Amino acid sequence: MPEADDITEIRHSVRQLCGQYGEDYWLELDRTRGYPTEFVRELTASGFLTVLIPQQYGGAGLGVYEASVIMEEVCRSGAHAGACHAQMYVMGSVLRHGSEQQKQAYLPKIAAGELRLQSFGVTEPTTGTDTLSLKTFARRDGDEYVINGQKVWISRIEHSDLMVLLARTTPQDQVQKKTDGLSAFIVDVAAAQGSGLEIRPIESMINHHSCELFFDDLRIPAGNLLGVEGKGFKVILDGMNAERILIGAECVGDGRYFIDKASAYATERHVFGRPIGQNQGVQFPIARCYAEVDAASLMVERAARMFDAGEPCGAEANMAKMLASEASWHAGDVCMQTHGGFAFAKEYHIERKFRETRLYQIAPISTNLILSYIGEHVLKMPRSF
Ligand SMILES: Cc1cc2nc3c(=O)[nH]c(=O)nc-3n(C[C@H](O)[C@H](O)[C@H](O)COP(=O)(O)OP(=O)(O)OC[C@H]3O[C@@H](n4cnc5c(N)ncnc54)[C@H](O)[C@@H]3O)c2cc1C
Repeated sequence: MPEADDITEIRHSVRQLCGQYGEDYWLELDRTRGYPTEFVRELTASGFLTVLIPQQYGGAGLGVYEASVIMEEVCRSGAHAGACHAQMYVMGSVLRHGSEQQKQAYLPKIAAGELRLQSFGVTEPTTGTDTLSLKTFARRDGDEYVINGQKVWISRIEHSDLMVLLARTTPQDQVQKKTDGLSAFIVDVAAAQGSGLEIRPIESMINHHSCELFFDDLRIPAGNLLGVEGKGFKVILDGMNAERILIGAECVGDGRYFIDKASAYATERHVFGRPIGQNQGVQFPIARCYAEVDAASLMVERAARMFDAGEPCGAEANMAKMLASEASWHAGDVCMQTHGGFAFAKEYHIERKFRETRLYQIAPISTNLILSYIGEHVLKMPRSF
């Protein structure tokens, strides 16, 4: 099916923008653990990072499908989209569950690039994947909530004005449904830092700006509750499907990046007096990766279109993320192999992308948990936890 003109136009414009930030830009940030401030600013100013914000709040009002095309192109260019992608899907929690007052307060400023909502605080060190057991507690005290607890791996918080935080408001042993008792809040990061929120960066394998957070009697206005108290899981769940689809699209972009690099190198590199790609042992793995990435891309598109049509798409979003993250990892491995020793040289950029794309089989949700979702919810097999 040929792509509609507007999608082709989006791809072209994003490619042009990314082309101004070559791979050396990303390599230097990786080396220095820097943040791509100029890139994020330009992506926002050009409207790409805010496409999901409705026009009435200053955005383009497009769907997750268009957003996924943008993230795919960003990754295909060699960029590391992890520095900014969260703005797209975290904003959805405010859009779908915020009050009109909250939407008016935040969305136009996010669309204008005056506020960054890049951070999503869910994971905790002692409960990990078992989100419904998280322990960070928000106790209501008059017209405030008082927050105590700890989070881990919370990305980009040092480069974000706002964070959507998931905390418990009813002890786990007092809820009727496992999914009840959690609430979502908007946290003003600058106001919180030093007043009950401590942020400690984690040294990690990729330049993802992830941090540990410590909450010690942090007070936030009760008006920062997002949606209904005790129903916060629902608030973040919608965002999670969008997140999985967009991460799937990023993996498709990574996969295509690796295939572009591998096929070009296999054609130009001569050993034994001929291009290495003339050997089927080199050529076929690249061709196989192409097929895998293209198939994953169809699943990403299907999930995105279902999301945009308002259809339940939990299974499709999960499958898209799983298939795309495996396809991109496989393509990264083949790209490494095709480049031989040069794959290890940083100036070839492959080892950086290889490290970056590995994340997506673990975060935002690991492959096992996706398989468990499919087993239980789609195939109706016995629940394992
Ligand atoms: C770079 C990075 C950035 C991140 N950014 C954020 C962020 O911005 N916000 C945020 O909230 N979180 C973030 N995360 C956290 C991420 O979502 C979690 O790491 C991920 O969900 C897995 O949780 P865990 O690390 O606690 O693993 P665990 O829950 O400890 O699981 C470890 C392994 O055991 C497997 N496992 C666990 N239970 C089962 C089971 N019942 N059946 C089968 N297998 C099982 C898992 O699949 C996994 O492979 C980030 C993580 C990283 C590494």
